[in-house]
Amino acid sequence: MKRTRIVEAVKMTQYGETVNVKGWVRTKRGNKQVNFIALNDGSTINNIQIVADVDKFDEELLKSITTGACLSVTGKLVKSEGAGQAVEIQASEIEIYGLADNTYPLQKKGHSMEFLREIAHLRPRTNTFGAVLRIRHNMAIAIHKFFHEKGFFYWHSPIITASDCEGAGQMFQVTTQNLYDLKKDENGSIKYDDDFFGKQTSLTVSGQLEGELGATALGAIYTFGPTFRAENSNTPRHLAEFWMIEPEVAFIDLAELMDLEEEFIKYCVNWALEHCMDDLTFLNNMIDKGLIERLKSVVSTEFVRLPYTEGIKILEAEIAKGKKFEFPVFWGCDLASEHERFLVEEHFKKPVIMIDYPKEIKAFYMKQNTDGKTVQGTDVLFPQIGEIIGGSVREENYDKLMARIQELNIPMKDMWWYLDTRKYGSCPHAGFGLGFERLMLFVTGMQNIRDVIPFPRTPKTADF
Ligand code: ATP
Ligand code: MN
Repeated sequence: MKRTRIVEAVKMTQYGETVNVKGWVRTKRGNKQVNFIALNDGSTINNIQIVADVDKFDEELLKSITTGACLSVTGKLVKSEGAGQAVEIQASEIEIYGLADNTYPLQKKGHSMEFLREIAHLRPRTNTFGAVLRIRHNMAIAIHKFFHEKGFFYWHSPIITASDCEGAGQMFQVTTQNLYDLKKDENGSIKYDDDFFGKQTSLTVSGQLEGELGATALGAIYTFGPTFRAENSNTPRHLAEFWMIEPEVAFIDLAELMDLEEEFIKYCVNWALEHCMDDLTFLNNMIDKGLIERLKSVVSTEFVRLPYTEGIKILEAEIAKGKKFEFPVFWGCDLASEHERFLVEEHFKKPVIMIDYPKEIKAFYMKQNTDGKTVQGTDVLFPQIGEIIGGSVREENYDKLMARIQELNIPMKDMWWYLDTRKYGSCPHAGFGLGFERLMLFVTGMQNIRDVIPFPRTPKTADF
């Protein structure tokens, strides 16, 4: 008999019809006459209740059905008398696919997030992670839909790269060399001639530079793929392997870039509100009581657009009034997340797009303003999260870009192809990078970035 997914079964009203469902036992309870089994197949946060009359089934079979077991159940769909569900299945046949004995780690409810990370291979079977991972899928779909509808092309920047100008020191090396027998030259430097690519290569920290090649050919592209940073930041907002979305667009300026950032985030959050309400309601009840309200508020408010210099003035005025921050504030400082969160959560109470940063604290490719001090970079700052997007207008003037590269001593020997975009038919263009898991933190209300990706990679952790 054809299987019905539980997400559909719980909505059916064809009482009396025979259906088949398959899934994992969440709980079982009962008495001498009847057993109630809550079955979940991952298609929805909702379980379907299976009612098994004790005299219709072998006693041993019913006994062996415990939390975590996998079943196929056929039976009649009936209106439920019990509270909490509209329908249930009066079982006529139960087939056990897989038993789960009492060592199954998800027996009781209410495990800590830390414990669940240790059993990341099983945590997708919990309500919380089921909800988070269904929302994660929906966010990925929303992202592709948003850009596709706007005429952007999905562009695949390489994951293995030989350019190290962006992430020196933060990159994971890729090599097939025998690490016990590294070939070195007379100066003691490692020789890469015999390595797989014949040069030093790493996992990418960003697909942007190749993305710019796409934008300056196809007009508008976006990447959506894994990126890697060997930064030893043990924070609830950093992963060593995370997914990034990086649109890059020809012929737009700073104002249009900010419009795109704002419209994009609102589209994704709105998508969650329209397509994931069951899961959001669960997370709102169990994880973060303010979640749905916060999502609605972000969709309906206009983001603040704030020059960095103004932001510094606000923070300095606050400090003069007695406010204490851990890190100092002065023009030229890289704002810490306590500063960003103060502006967003306490001062404006809205998302903030900060612009025109000092050039010293931003990347070499950002377009220089005429003041000679600032660049057209944008960070989108969010409540709870801090920075969710980093973007900029790119410097399209060859001479200005080269001057900055030389000023910063950036190793560009393998970057001739990037400079060619400024040499041949250079054009104004801009783009940004959004960390997919930062968006996920915001949309789910989860507190730790390790809990919005199935198998997190962080310093000293690469299990599963
Ligand atoms: P942060 O200051 O928070 O470390 P960043 O300035 O290094 O961020 P960018 O290099 O601008 O970030 O990267 C673009 C986006 O990628 C960020 O806005 C953020 O959403 C995301 N991001 C950056 N680093 C990480 C990380 N280690 N884990 C998860 N997401 C990240
Ligand atoms: Mn960083």
